[in-house]
Parts: sequence; C-alpha cells; structure tokens
Amino acid sequence: MPGHALDLVVRYRKGQTYGVHALIAALEVEPPSVSYELHLARSVEEVRERVREGVEAGRRVLTVWSFYSPDAGAAEQELAEVRTTTPGDGVVHLAGGVHATAEPLVTLRAGWDAVAIGEGERTFTTFVEAVATGTDWRGLPGTAHLDGDGTLVKGPRAERRDLDHYPAFPHTRNLTSPIEITRGCIYACKFCQTPFMFSARFRHRSVASVREQVRVMRGRGLRDVRFITPTSLSYGSPDESPALDAVEELLAACHEELGPGGRVFFGSFPSELRPEHVSVEALRLLRKYVANRDVIIGAQSGSDEVLAGSGRGHGAGVIEDAVRLAVAEGFRPNVDVIFGMPGEGTRQALETVAMTTRLADLGARIHAHTFMPLPGTPWRNEPPGRLPDEARRALAVLTTRGEVYGSWERQEGIAAELAGVRSVDAGHRTGRPRRLRPAPTASQADDADHVDHVDDAR
Ligand code: SF4
Repeated sequence: MPGHALDLVVRYRKGQTYGVHALIAALEVEPPSVSYELHLARSVEEVRERVREGVEAGRRVLTVWSFYSPDAGAAEQELAEVRTTTPGDGVVHLAGGVHATAEPLVTLRAGWDAVAIGEGERTFTTFVEAVATGTDWRGLPGTAHLDGDGTLVKGPRAERRDLDHYPAFPHTRNLTSPIEITRGCIYACKFCQTPFMFSARFRHRSVASVREQVRVMRGRGLRDVRFITPTSLSYGSPDESPALDAVEELLAACHEELGPGGRVFFGSFPSELRPEHVSVEALRLLRKYVANRDVIIGAQSGSDEVLAGSGRGHGAGVIEDAVRLAVAEGFRPNVDVIFGMPGEGTRQALETVAMTTRLADLGARIHAHTFMPLPGTPWRNEPPGRLPDEARRALAVLTTRGEVYGSWERQEGIAAELAGVRSVDAGHRTGRPRRLRPAPTASQADDADHVDHVDDAR
C-alpha cells in the first residue's frame, strides 16, 4: 500500500499464531489513526527485508515478537540478526507474551526496545498508535522499557477489557484461530503460567460473541469449530463448579450457527477437561453436541502427594474415575501427566507410571510431559524435571506399545536448559544468545504435540 505511515512487521511462527491473531483482531476494533501495512513474517529473513524496505522508504517500523520461555533464546538470536543487518533508525522492536511478561528485564536486556506485560490487546493498540504517529511510547500502560542507565521502567497496568470487546481472530483478514471462550483461571497450579499471565478469575466470552465468530468462520467455508479455554467445563462458571447449562447453551448455539455439516470440538485440543468435572451428565451433554470422540483430561500426576504440592485441587482417585466414565460414555481419553514435578521422587514417579498403566488398560492414551520451571510461576526456581531410571524404562515400554506419547524426553533437556538460563539471568546476562530448542509447555494452547491438527485452520 503506497503512502502508508507504518510497517507493522509481526514475526509469525507456527505454533504461536493464536496470540498474534488476537492482537491483529484488536487493531480492527482500535485501529491507529494513520495508515499501516501488516506484514506476517514467516522467517527472520522476511523480518529483515520488511524492516529494510520500511526504513528505506522513510516509514516508521514496528516489529512484534511473541514467544514462550523455551523459545526465548531462538527469538533473541533472530532479533540480534535483524538488529545487526538492518538500520535502526525509526525501528521499534516490541516483545510480548508469557515469557516477556514474566521476565521483562531479561527480555529488554536481550535487545527488545519495549515489552508488553500481561494480556496484550489494549496495550498493543495503544503502542501501535504511538509508534505510528511518532509519539513517545515509553511509559505506556502495560509496557516496560529500560531507561538510560539500564533500569527497568514499567508503565501503569493496562486496562483489561471484556473478551467480547475484541474478536477472537481477525474478521477482515483470512486468519482464523480456535475461539477463546474463557481467559484467566481460578486454579493455581504451581507449574502453570496462565493465572499470572491473565488473571486468577475466569472471564468468559458471551454466547452471542461466540456465535458471531462462528458466523465469520462459516462465511470462510470453515465447518469445524474449536475453543481455547484453560478448562472447558468451566465455561460460564465463576468458580470450581461446572455450569453445564452455560456449556449447553454455547454448544447448541455453535451447532445452530454452523448448520448442516458443521462440527464442534470441545474438551479436546486446545481445551481440556479437569478430571473432577467429568460426570455422566457432562459426558452425555458432550455426546449430544461434539464431533470429537477423543477428550483431553488434565491429570498431571498419579501421586496424591505431588498433586497436593502442585495445588491442582484434586487427587489421583478422581482421575481414574474420570477415565472410566469417559470410556463408558464412548470417549477415548487422552490424559496429560507431568513427570519430575517438585516433590516427586522415585516412589511418586512410579505411582504415576502405575496409574498410567491402569489408565491405558482402561483405554486411555497418556500424553507425557516433563516438568519445566517456567518463569512467572510459583515453581520458577525449582529444579528442572528428571525422570528416575525405572520410570524412564517403564515409559519407554509404554511408548513402544502406543499407550504413551509426547515430548517428555525432549522436555527433560529443555527443562535443564531453562534452569541454566535462569541461573545466568540471576546475575547479569551477557554473552552470546543461547538457542533453546522450542517446545511446548504442558498447559499452553499451542502445544506442538497437537498443533499440527488445528493450527491455522483456515
Ligand atoms: S493447569 Fe489448567 S487448571 Fe491449572 S492453573 Fe493452569 S490453566 Fe488453570
């Protein structure tokens, strides 16, 4: 577009697109007062090219990066490449997402000019407006930057708006994501970044707003609807009890809006079920409306001690009950477990392995993870997860039988690397950027073990 004032260059990576789509959608509601062109850069070369073009044309340029903690080293390396190969004048580099929120100082020292802290929509639209118009962006709500002597300066807290205020994905560009129906989480699992990133309460998108998203999807010829939520059966509820009436209203509305041939996926990736929410009534409700026969149940451990220590809010017994019920009602449960959580010794790990075997015998598949001490979580300073040899051998056997899947072995290495980076960060971070192998966390929506099925469903 000739004559635009701002080049908005978004680093666009598979597995991390949902958050980016939400930001682009927010710009549809609150666009900058001057014209801009959006570039989705699928490689670092593309970022460099777009930055160079914008600078050479005399335009303002804003680059935007969002990444999880395991990806932070790779993103840092990319930014360094962009910085060393493109002119810096008029270019602002902004980082957001869960890692930047948890580690703003580290992120800024790694080379970004500003970070967006917490949920990004309102922060993003005000930041874009400032850069696009050449206004000072330092100190804006929801942002942080370094002052002249390298001190971290944070702006006031950003305004949080209702989920309904912004579309779930851009409506004017052909970019689609699962529909975020709930944000924030009242549970406080100590390994999870969700409560601190968003809020410790549920905020739900209304059924009317969900319908609107479905209508747009149907207009694009899409027939499958999926949802983003920390806990599917909490939709419409303010507390621990499921509000099945609200869930039914949501599912029925999606069905009606999709029309014949439409398929609703609920309680499967990227939304899971807490085991204590699984009941005959809930499962029959799902059977009535959903297309998926696989459901994901968050178990995390087979040890009552580890579950209690992690703040999960349920014990091990309820996990087996949930699996039994799900199988009886015609579903195939996929059960998430995390090995190596704090408080897990060999005995507790073997309790989880034993539970895994029993669940597999019932008909479940186990999605195994290794604990990673993620920034921002209460367990950020805990040692990285490691499996005892007996548990490792047992898991290997279950994996060859197809009863266990997942990135638990790879995550063991990543967890150790994260802890290594953390110990560097505890002092002053200098030296060359380190590349961590990208990998998912156990509870984040863009999980690489699943993501190929649904990401970019457009
Ligand atoms: S693991 Fe799930 S239930 Fe626990 S805090 Fe995170 S999002 Fe909430």
